[in-house]
Amino acid sequence: MKIICVGRNYAAHARELNNKTEEEPVIFMKPETALIPGKMPFFYPSFSKDIHYEGELVVRISKLGKNIEERFADRYYDAVSMGIDFTARDLQQQLKTKGLPWERAKAFDGSAPVGDFIPLTELPPIQDLRFTLKVNGEVRQNGHTADMLFAVNKIVSFVSSYFTLKKGDLIFTGTPEGVGPVAIGDTLEAELEGKPLLTVRIK
Ligand code: MG
Repeated sequence: MKIICVGRNYAAHARELNNKTEEEPVIFMKPETALIPGKMPFFYPSFSKDIHYEGELVVRISKLGKNIEERFADRYYDAVSMGIDFTARDLQQQLKTKGLPWERAKAFDGSAPVGDFIPLTELPPIQDLRFTLKVNGEVRQNGHTADMLFAVNKIVSFVSSYFTLKKGDLIFTGTPEGVGPVAIGDTLEAELEGKPLLTVRIK
């Protein structure tokens, strides 16, 4: 099982981190050890002093696929949830400045909590979903999947030309503006279409 993530997929978020928008999706991966299922806490790692939350729609792959055409991509996923792409922003900035890969800042243990999945049949169309991320009860991110620079079908098609997608793989589809730091003691809650799907406590 692998976790594929898209960076800079919302223009306003790319701007808030002083990144330009890209002509192709920015892709990185997290290993299975990054996943925090269910109601497990996130343990603030000792190697960073600036862990940021990034609330994201997560798409679950439902069957094996390689070189998937965009027009058939919706046959390859069946459910969505909310996830948090935890990022060691200080470490990421050091690595970006040196032109080095981001993995240590993005793919560390526990960096990918994922909530309960909802079948797509129970939701509006995938490019018309609204989601929020709250920190200690206060809304910090309001996302609408219509604002994605690269739609889910495009991402699935693009990614599958490099990496075979397997049933159970997850795709983090990028974060809208409003990212920020977390502190020990914080509680993060993510909702999709008003349904609370994920709660993460920072320890
Ligand atoms: Mg992200």
